[in-house]
Amino acid sequence: MQVAKKDYYEILGVSRDASPEEIKRAYRRLAVKYHPDRNPDNPKEAEEKFKEVAEAYKILSDPEKRKIYDQYGHAGLEAGVGTGGTTYGGFGGFDFDPFKIFEEVFGREDIFGEDIFGGLFGGSATTRSRKAQAGVSLQYNLEIDFEEAVKGTEKEISLTRYETCPRCGGQGVEPGYRPEPCPACGGTGYIQTRQGFFSFTRTCTQCHGRGTIIRHPCRECRGTGRVRRTRKIRVKIPPGVNDGTTLRLRGEGEAGIEGGPSGDLFVSIRVRPHPLFSRREDDIVVEVPISFALAALGGEISVPTLDGKVKLKIPAGTQSGKIFRLRGKGVPHLHSSGRGDQLVKVYVETPVNLSLEQKQLLKRFDELSRDTGQPRIKEFFRKVRGLFGQ
Ligand SMILES: [Zn+2]
Ligand SMILES: [Zn+2]
Repeated sequence: MQVAKKDYYEILGVSRDASPEEIKRAYRRLAVKYHPDRNPDNPKEAEEKFKEVAEAYKILSDPEKRKIYDQYGHAGLEAGVGTGGTTYGGFGGFDFDPFKIFEEVFGREDIFGEDIFGGLFGGSATTRSRKAQAGVSLQYNLEIDFEEAVKGTEKEISLTRYETCPRCGGQGVEPGYRPEPCPACGGTGYIQTRQGFFSFTRTCTQCHGRGTIIRHPCRECRGTGRVRRTRKIRVKIPPGVNDGTTLRLRGEGEAGIEGGPSGDLFVSIRVRPHPLFSRREDDIVVEVPISFALAALGGEISVPTLDGKVKLKIPAGTQSGKIFRLRGKGVPHLHSSGRGDQLVKVYVETPVNLSLEQKQLLKRFDELSRDTGQPRIKEFFRKVRGLFGQ
């Protein structure tokens, strides 16, 4: 069981053997598409995507980090595998500035010139300031037993995530102090420069567009406003979940940045196979072997269900492969009331390792059955005779 975030290659839409150029191209395309300034209709969603592609690019464009990620996944980056003491803990969450990465890739001229956004950035001042960012959503793979999936259960999972720093309440400022206006930009968050007739605006690099700086960063989170915590979380699993069901726990992902909402936690359910039962939608299937004497004579058998054993009447002359239905003994419907059925498939076991006496009895039985009692065999040979004209 491991915590897995969204796959970086998937985020960028490139294959795992993509070249550095392909990765950069994918980032450029997506970063422009999701730049919050280009998505005034839903800036929050866009910014989350923008952040996501920046994070994916940041890792995959660095050969060493990419190697670690390829080998160990997100866990490797978080654990700081093979980096000789340096950890990449920060990249598991979001301790870097997506706008800075954007500027690094595109260059300042590109961003504010015509090339990328045309008139969008144009000459008009970008009064963009650092907005709240939603926390990253997390994914967790949870394995449960067949019975637990059918009847529902409650599981405790352990999860390491970024949470709002309890010391500063997410402000990043040591208690007793306050953020101060940024001296570089005078608190506006951007800096305007002139070149000939044109004036250019760029995000203030001192305060990253916040307009404020923190002289006394919180000691616990070092000014980031978030801390990494390992938590035990109880997950309620409703009866009727199936292999592949994903549960969404709102707000249980990582804490947002600068007041942004928390991400969600997605729990993907894997159901361990059961030695007796299998599942077909909300029906439970069980295969039961019966003796051929019982199949011929009829009788009663005991069938296992998840509610215990039940008696099942086998009519005389039951053929191998016959399916009996036990109504309401299946899986509870996840999205409505009621339950599926249990399907009991009986198959006739041909006797093996016969004793002399058994053999004699069966030979005697066979002699008596030549003309009666085996209609399917009789019918088959009638057809064969018809085919060959005798
Ligand atoms: Zn703090
Ligand atoms: Zn500033």
